[in-house]
Amino acid sequence: MKKTTITTIAALALTTTLALQVYAKESDKKDAKAVSAEKKEEKKERLFQRFRDLFDKSGQNNTHQVEIISGPTAVKMRNGRVPGKQWQATCGKYRFKLTIEDKTKMPLETLIKRIEELPMPYVRACEVVSDIREDGVAIYSDLNGAMAHGGKGYINTLPNAPSVVIAHEVGHTLEQAARESDSKLIEKWTSAIEADNQSVSGYADSSNTEDLAEFAKVYCVCYNAGPEKLAELRKLSPRRFSIWEHILMKAPPPQRSWTQPLWPGAAPRSEGVTDNEKITDRSKGGHPDRAAENVHKPTLTIHLPSKASASGAAVIICPGGGYSRCVIDKEGNDVASWLNRIGVAGIVLKYRLPRPDGHVYGHEIPLMDLQRAIRAVRANAKNWDLKPELVGVMGFSAGGHLASTGGTHYDSGNPEAEDPVEKESCRPDYMILIYPVISFSDAVGHGGSRKNLLGDKPKTKLVRLYSNELQVTGQTPPTFLVSTSDDPVKAENSINFYLAMKAAKAPAELHIYEQGGHGYGLRKTHDAVSTWPDRCMDWMKSRNIRVRPPERR
Ligand SMILES: [Zn+2]
Repeated sequence: MKKTTITTIAALALTTTLALQVYAKESDKKDAKAVSAEKKEEKKERLFQRFRDLFDKSGQNNTHQVEIISGPTAVKMRNGRVPGKQWQATCGKYRFKLTIEDKTKMPLETLIKRIEELPMPYVRACEVVSDIREDGVAIYSDLNGAMAHGGKGYINTLPNAPSVVIAHEVGHTLEQAARESDSKLIEKWTSAIEADNQSVSGYADSSNTEDLAEFAKVYCVCYNAGPEKLAELRKLSPRRFSIWEHILMKAPPPQRSWTQPLWPGAAPRSEGVTDNEKITDRSKGGHPDRAAENVHKPTLTIHLPSKASASGAAVIICPGGGYSRCVIDKEGNDVASWLNRIGVAGIVLKYRLPRPDGHVYGHEIPLMDLQRAIRAVRANAKNWDLKPELVGVMGFSAGGHLASTGGTHYDSGNPEAEDPVEKESCRPDYMILIYPVISFSDAVGHGGSRKNLLGDKPKTKLVRLYSNELQVTGQTPPTFLVSTSDDPVKAENSINFYLAMKAAKAPAELHIYEQGGHGYGLRKTHDAVSTWPDRCMDWMKSRNIRVRPPERR
């Protein structure tokens, strides 16, 4: 070993001498150049050298723990499609996957320990690489000569890569994720390298992104060593330090919730209509409760579940409001966040109402908006990590009428259409109807909703067309129904629909509770009906819609 050391020193000395000779030849100001070359040599591996003694024991005193919540399941691993085992894990608020190639025979405990040795903020990167088609932190037997790879959708390492190597890959992963919301990130890092006038490691000097990843590694060991070391690092390399902390702590995670127009431009038959949408806010004690009236610009509010819990299923939610308004929080966004917690995307449809102030759209318009919503979700399934064959509809009260209309009046799309959305089928794959209006018959129908949708004296033919229990066939999508005996919207709406489904041999499940009234949404009360979300979850499981137990909050 001694011999090697001597050789290395000799080689280094030789390099330095040669470098100095080159500089000496090139310039008249021989002394100045020689000094600067020497200075350059001295700077090399400065940060790595300074903190070298922290690397070996990095993270060994960390107290946070990785908890395995399910697995192993056998998988074909993404990179190379080799067989492996996959687990779902949590650590603090993060939820992610761990995958080990069978060939490596690496014990899961070893991988868990490596993750626990990362600083807590670094664990977020494990979540970023745990999308529905991703493997989380993955261990491979071979990575074509590399020890590890990191990017926006993957952190792959060999079994012998220590946690500081994972920290380097976390640098690549979080930097690439942050770049989505800050296109100038790499430019900023480049000027930070210049301003700091400090090399991180010899390895990283030729590439700005490697410099960033190597800085992530040094920051990791300093973070684990405590505030004093971190302060020392900040002093040595202040510009990099603040950019990396921003990427690590403050850069927004990929957006999981947003609102978008349902139609490109004006919605059909709303061209030139003045937008006079009215929002009534009845929010109380931090619980949002808004209702929209006079809707002319229908929207979709998309809430995607965390990447690690995503089942690929999506539910389009039709809020109630008697076809005169849309109760967008209590029977919309609140329901979406419950769906997210069981791994299902919740997509709230704010639909146009049949008779806004000073305007008559007529009965076709809410259905037109729902059909567009179902087609749009299918057309975007790939972008939003959804399965186009698991797109359901859900409706509350009059929203239940709209949803059940969608489930009994549909088409398979127009293959000739130029708009890719219009090519898609608008048949929902399943229906969830909660205290629904379904029928417009004289005996059962809800007068207010019927009047708002069909007008004062609708023709019998129209009443029958929108009495959805009369429109059931063997192809009507599987349906889950909840009503109560004391609901002013009669339980017969659900009962008659169920009987029609049964007669048509279409799958349906019906829950009638004695008490609970109307409009309870997801509110927890002493009434047994408030446990309907659990029954709904059981039913979705029985239909092979892979819901998960609710995520802890
Ligand atoms: Zn790298």
